[in-house]
Amino acid sequence: MTKQIEVVSDILQANDQLSLELKLLFDSKGIFVINFMGSPGAGKTSILEKLVQTIKSEVKMAVIEGDLYTSKDAQRIEAQGIPVTQINTCGGCHLDSSMIQQALTALALDDLDLLIIENVGNLVCPSSYDLGEDIKMVALSVTEGDDKPIKYPAMFQRAQLVILNKIDLLEYTNFSLDHALGDIKTINPALEVFNLSCRTGEGIIELAQYISSQIAAKRTRPQTTER
Ligand code: MG
Ligand code: ZN
Repeated sequence: MTKQIEVVSDILQANDQLSLELKLLFDSKGIFVINFMGSPGAGKTSILEKLVQTIKSEVKMAVIEGDLYTSKDAQRIEAQGIPVTQINTCGGCHLDSSMIQQALTALALDDLDLLIIENVGNLVCPSSYDLGEDIKMVALSVTEGDDKPIKYPAMFQRAQLVILNKIDLLEYTNFSLDHALGDIKTINPALEVFNLSCRTGEGIIELAQYISSQIAAKRTRPQTTER
C-alpha cells in the first residue's frame, strides 16, 4: 500500500517540476495560459468556440485540445481559424505537463498572447496536474446538478474561475444557484463566477473581457525569469 502511494506522489512531483519549467517558458514569452476543466458535456468546447469568435480579432491565441480518443473537439476549434494541437490520451483521464511539452512543439509560441488548454472531461484528477498555467477555469453546467462543487471540492479549491454554463436552462432544472454559489464561496471565497449561455450568448463578452484584462495584467507584471 505505502509503495503505491509513493509512486503516485513521485508522479505528481515530477509533474510539478515540469509544470514549473513550462510556467517559466510561458512567462518568458508573455503567454497567458488557461487550464480549462469540467465534466464531459459541461460545454467546454462550445464555450471555447464562442470565446474564440469573440476575441480572436484582438488576441493571438491557440488551443490545445485534450481528448480521450477523438479529434472532434479539435476540429470544431480549428474551424474557427486559430491554431489547434490535439492530444489524445488514449483513455488517460487527465493531461499532464509532459503531454503539454510535446504539444507545444507544434505551436509558434513567439506569436501568442493566449493559450487555452481544454483538459479531458473529468472533475477529479485533472486539477492535481498543473500544466504551467496561470489560471484554472472550470465549466459547470446547470444540468449537472448543484451538488458538484461540494462533491468535487479540490477542483473548485484550485480554480480561479468557474463558468456556470447553460444558464438559459436554469428554470428547467432543479439546480439551486443559492446552493451552488454558497458551496463555492465556502470552498473557495476568491473564486470568480460567470453565468454563461452559449445559446443566448449571455456572459460571453464578460468572460472575454475578464480574460483580456488578465492577459494585459500579465504583460505588465515582471517576468518570473527576470526575478
Ligand atoms: Mg470538449
Ligand atoms: Zn486522471
